[in-house]
Amino acid sequence: MKKKIPVFDIKLNKSEKKYALECLKTSQIGQGRFIKKFENKFSKYVNCKYGVTTTSGTTALHLACSTLNLKKNDEVLISSSTNMACAFSVEYCGAIPVPIDIEMNTWQLNVKDLEKKITKKTKAIMVVHLFGQAVDMDPVLKIAKKYKLKIIEDCAESHGVEYKGRKVGSMGDIGVFSFFSNKTITCGEGGMIVTNNKKLAVRASILKNLAYGKKNRFMHSDIGFNYRLSNLSAAIGLGQLENINSKLKEKKRIYLRYKKKLKNISGIKIPIIKKHTTNFIMWVFNVYLDKNFPISRDKLIKILDKNGVETRNAFVPINKQKVLRQKYKIYKKYNCVNANYIMKKGFYLPSGNNITNKQIDKICKIISDTASKI
Ligand SMILES: *Cc1c(COP(=O)(O)O)cnc(C)c1O
Repeated sequence: MKKKIPVFDIKLNKSEKKYALECLKTSQIGQGRFIKKFENKFSKYVNCKYGVTTTSGTTALHLACSTLNLKKNDEVLISSSTNMACAFSVEYCGAIPVPIDIEMNTWQLNVKDLEKKITKKTKAIMVVHLFGQAVDMDPVLKIAKKYKLKIIEDCAESHGVEYKGRKVGSMGDIGVFSFFSNKTITCGEGGMIVTNNKKLAVRASILKNLAYGKKNRFMHSDIGFNYRLSNLSAAIGLGQLENINSKLKEKKRIYLRYKKKLKNISGIKIPIIKKHTTNFIMWVFNVYLDKNFPISRDKLIKILDKNGVETRNAFVPINKQKVLRQKYKIYKKYNCVNANYIMKKGFYLPSGNNITNKQIDKICKIISDTASKI
């Protein structure tokens, strides 16, 4: 059977190999010079003073929640349609994830719904700049100020994206990035938190390293974690960062090609990019179906699969997760209608670094043939 067109792939350049080899040659695979270098260079890239590496986006989110002192029964408002690492990181602190619906046309957090869900227990807002688009941050910042809430920006899908000229991750208290294999830049597994607040940066770097004592190393100053990224991973991350512009260029090519080829197919909808996202970066190419498409999403992705095209379904939102619904009876009341709709109708198409225009055209032809044949 022919090889499938994958939803993502990894492209490594010379720098990654050179730096990784240096780690091997010097035996500095655990600790070493690339960790600080990656932290400094990446935080600068997203316009933040400090960067603290972690082992994944999930551990970075948990580190952010812990650094901001989220505690048992604190409520955190989160965009419902997201990777569950968002809700779980809040859970790890004993705090409660409160799902907020998305806008249908952009799939981003509907900021109009935020204020309605604020209670005395609300402590923070976790915004997710989903799929490379920025959340409308001005109203979020205003609400956070009014109610004295902390802001965590989950930027796992939006490295380098800007909101009205400001880099995502630099507007709230803490920004969180992932360098998992399918993200815009990757070191296999990895993450980072960024901030402009020195106190938070110091606290995060203590917590991530088991909170070893200052005077007596083994008298720990807090209940810490081991979320240390290895030097070998940081070396690869640094190499990827040096090539980020060419990666972003490729992502734009893929976005424009799909958009051009799909825009006239009846029943296929593409999330719109609002003007406040001043540096849009497509992480993966999403579509959703409306009632004009002749068959269901699940039937369409089966046809694509048979033709060697991999796809991924849209997120199952926080309010629909069984483990959370069992725990929080109140979730029945949190009806995120748009996120629920996208869960059933949305999916993304192959968006790897190595996909060719020819492959994209082939995928779009399968979709348009399906739309017209049935
Ligand atoms: C990938 C992702 C995460 C989790 O990152 P990992 O590195 O896989 O732990 C969190 N949030 C969002 C929005 C993501 O896309």
